[in-house]
Order: sequence, then structure tokens, then C-alpha cells
Amino acid sequence: MRMYVAGQWIDKPEKLEVRNPYDDSVIDTVPRADRGDVERAIQSAERGARAMARLPGYERWKILKRAAELMTARTEALGQTISTEEGKILAEGRLEASRAVETIMGSAEEAKRLHGETVPLDAAPGGAGKFGVTIRVPCGVVVAISPFNFPLNLVCHKVGPALAGGNAVLLKPATDTPLSALALTEILLEAGLPPEGINTLTGPGGEIGDLLVADRRVRKITFTGSRDVGEHICRTAGIKRVTMELGSNAPVIVMPDADMDKVAAAVAATGYANAGQVCISTQRVLTAGKVYGDFLDALKPKVEALKVGNQLDETVKVGPMVREREAVRVEEWVREAVAGGARLVTGGRRQGAMYIPTIVADVKPEMRVSCDELFGPAVAVTPFRDIDEAIALANDTNYGLAAGIFTQNLEWAWKFAREVHSGNLHINWGPQWRADLMPYGGLKESGFGKEGPAYAVAEMTELKMVVFHLPQ
Ligand code: NAP
Repeated sequence: MRMYVAGQWIDKPEKLEVRNPYDDSVIDTVPRADRGDVERAIQSAERGARAMARLPGYERWKILKRAAELMTARTEALGQTISTEEGKILAEGRLEASRAVETIMGSAEEAKRLHGETVPLDAAPGGAGKFGVTIRVPCGVVVAISPFNFPLNLVCHKVGPALAGGNAVLLKPATDTPLSALALTEILLEAGLPPEGINTLTGPGGEIGDLLVADRRVRKITFTGSRDVGEHICRTAGIKRVTMELGSNAPVIVMPDADMDKVAAAVAATGYANAGQVCISTQRVLTAGKVYGDFLDALKPKVEALKVGNQLDETVKVGPMVREREAVRVEEWVREAVAGGARLVTGGRRQGAMYIPTIVADVKPEMRVSCDELFGPAVAVTPFRDIDEAIALANDTNYGLAAGIFTQNLEWAWKFAREVHSGNLHINWGPQWRADLMPYGGLKESGFGKEGPAYAVAEMTELKMVVFHLPQ
């Protein structure tokens, strides 16, 4: 595919290959953007921001609503593109495509809801005769940088609210998975977006990232990706608005009164989807000593039943990881844990980019499979004595994106919700659950700022305070 810069679909002699992770076949190529393309895209985005700021909310709503309709008509094709470039099974690719429709539709609705409020200035000393009102205005040029693992829906979580708020977007999708973002760009233009309302650049973040992030004409950066790249962007950005949606090593606490079948079903569902490459995948299962053996007995057959293979085969439940080197990394971390005294319950093998769904028990908190973000199809199980130790273990991490607890005890559930330092907390389900309309984002080094159209649109706009000094 070509990339979209300054109102034109352009090609370049320098290309990047997009590969199917299952067999490493080249499915397409995209241009490799350079410094000149970045400059053209930023200049275009500045013009686009002026055009977008002139567009009434009703027009922004119409464009996004039309885009959602076009996406609905193309859900199957979008799902196939997602699965082919990313490696997630078709059912997950289709689900992502239909969730992306919801995200764009939710963003359309926000274009109609942006509003300010009156401020009772006469309640301030010396405020008699003053009238105050807040208004929301677009930030201007929004740079959106997205990860590989949800190549359509996470792009929609940035582009939708940015356009709803009247901004122009400069989008840089992940190099492994640029095709879904380019397909979305086509749809938005077909839906009537002003031609310079979006620019979509394909190119390595390590080469063009700093040029995008440091530029003073960019007024807002919205980034989803790894902690380390996020920190680099924060340091490079200077004084501008930034949203960071970063990684995690999400814990689940299994209390002694939990329903073991439900726990096992939830961990199998939330620990291995998209081959574990979900920022809120269940990674650490902290299990009460009393039910430790019961939990492993219930989980093992469910994990062993997950068929691994070609993501486009409808019977497969776990596809390849995005690159073979990621599967090699997961293999190394699991081997290291086992060498350090952890116990392999099942899995622990690799076939190319596919890592067989794995359970590692007796994991110590300092092992990499527990304390770092694993981002692969393996869960690490660790015993605890009581709720206080469970919460301490859950919090013993720099991350804080999502966590879960299984219990019938209201007091334990509430204590968990109050004391676990995490942005999303689930009672009686695993951490990997998200409705696209909810506020979603991390605490600690999992980032800051919220996504979910109603919340993201606030981050994509500036609040101005207007004071009328009226005669008394
Ligand atoms: P990544 O390596 O950090 O890449 C994310 C994006 O940043 C890509 O578009 C990448 O471009 C770009 N990038 C790389 N270096 C850059 C630089 N110096 N300046 C600017 N941009 C740069 O992450 P990933 O491997 O794609 O995604 C996995 C990570 O995302 C995991 O940590 C996961 O937890 C996190 N994630 C978080 C959430 C959330 O909502 N909190 C959701 C999904 C994923 P290239 O592809 O060209 O390198």
C-alpha cells in the first residue's frame, strides 16, 4: 500500500515489507518515510488543523458516523487484514474490526457532546458583574503513535477522538502492522474527511519518531506502546500534551473461596488471547496456598486444549507471535524461570514464531516472567498466604494497568479495589476485559491519561476560560 501525505497517496523506492507472522511470507510493502516526508506531513497537518477547526461539530459527527458505516460494511475484510498482518486468530481479528466500529461511532457521538460550563464568578470576592464560561477548543496537530497488537482498534481510539475534537491527526502506525491503519485512512477520506485532516506515515519509529515528537508545531501526542519507548517520547516531547498507554504484567488474585472452574476458564481466556500479546493479558496468577493445587489442576487441561497454528484456520485458538524473535524471548524467560526453581506445568516449547501456551508454577516475584512484561502466551503462578500478602505481591511492580480478583467475599473484593494500584480492576474476571466506551488507562509506569472516546476527547482538546466583565 502507499502512505498518505499532504493530501496524496504516495509511494517511494525505499520500502518496508509487511509479513504474515505465521509463515513469514511478504503480504505487502509500504513506503519508508524519511525526514522530508515528516516535514511535508507536519506542514500538511497544520493546514489540516485549520480546516478541521472550521468544521462544525455536526459535520465532524457526520464524517465519523459515515466512516463507521463504511467500516461495518467492510468488517470481514478489515478482520482478515488485522489477522494476516498481526497473527491473531480470525475470530479475534473480526472482533477487533467490530470493536473499532464502536470506537469510531462512540467518537462521532462525542463530536456532538463537546461543551463547556458556566462558572459562578460572582461567588468570588470582587466577582460581582463578572460572567464566566469555559469552552473547549482543538489542540491542533495531534501525533498518534500506535502499537502492533491492535492495529485497527487502538488506532481508532486515537484518531476517532482527535477528529471528534476538531484536530488534524498525523498517524504513525507500528511498522509490523501498518495495513489496517492505511485501510482506516482510506475509509475516513471516503467518508468526507478534509483531505489534510489526516496524514498517515509509514516508517520506523526509531528513525522518524523523534522528528514527529519533538516538533513544536505538534501540540498533542497520543502514544500506545512499550514503557521504554513511552519514556523516551516523554523526554523528547518537551512542553506539549501527552497521553501514554503503556505496558503491564497484570495480576489475578485467586482467593480460597473462588469458583475454580470459573477461574480456570477466565485465566485460559485472558492469558492466551492474541498469543498473550495484550497489554492487559493475565500474566501473574497469585493463588491462595489452600487452593493452589486445585487451581493448577483446573487450568492445565483448559490450556492444553488451546489449538496452536495458522491464525487463518478457523479451528485454531492461538496463532503465532508477531515475530519469531518475540517467541524466542518468551522461551528464554520461561527457561530462565525453570532453571531458577520454577515448575513447568505445561507448554514451554516453541515452533518458529509460535509459542505453545504455557503455565509456570512456583514462580518467584523477582523472576522475569513475573516482574517484567512478558507479552506472550504463558502465565506465572505464585502462592500467597492471605489477602494482605496477595495485594502486596500484586502491587510489587512498576506497572498498574489492570488486575483481577476471584472471590465471593465482598470485603476482600472491596479491599482489592481500594488497595491495588491499577487503572482497571475486575471482580470475578481476569484483567483482560475492556468495553471501548469505558475510561481506560494505567497508573504508575503503565502511563497516564485515559482512552475511551468520552475521556480521550477531553485530552484532545484544550479548556479555555472566558470572563465577561459586565457593567454592574
Ligand atoms: P513499541 O515497540 O513501543 O512500539 C509502539 C510504537 O512506537 C510503534 O509505532 C513504533 O514504531 C513506535 N516507536 C518506536 N520507537 C519510537 C521512537 N523512538 N519514537 C517514537 N515512536 C517510536 O510497542 P509494540 O511492541 O508495538 O507494542 C507492545 C507494547 O504496547 C506492550 O508494551 C504493550 O503492553 C503496549 N500496549 C499498551 C496498551 C495500553 O492501552 N496501555 C495497549 C496495547 C499495547 P515501529 O513499529 O516503527 O518501531
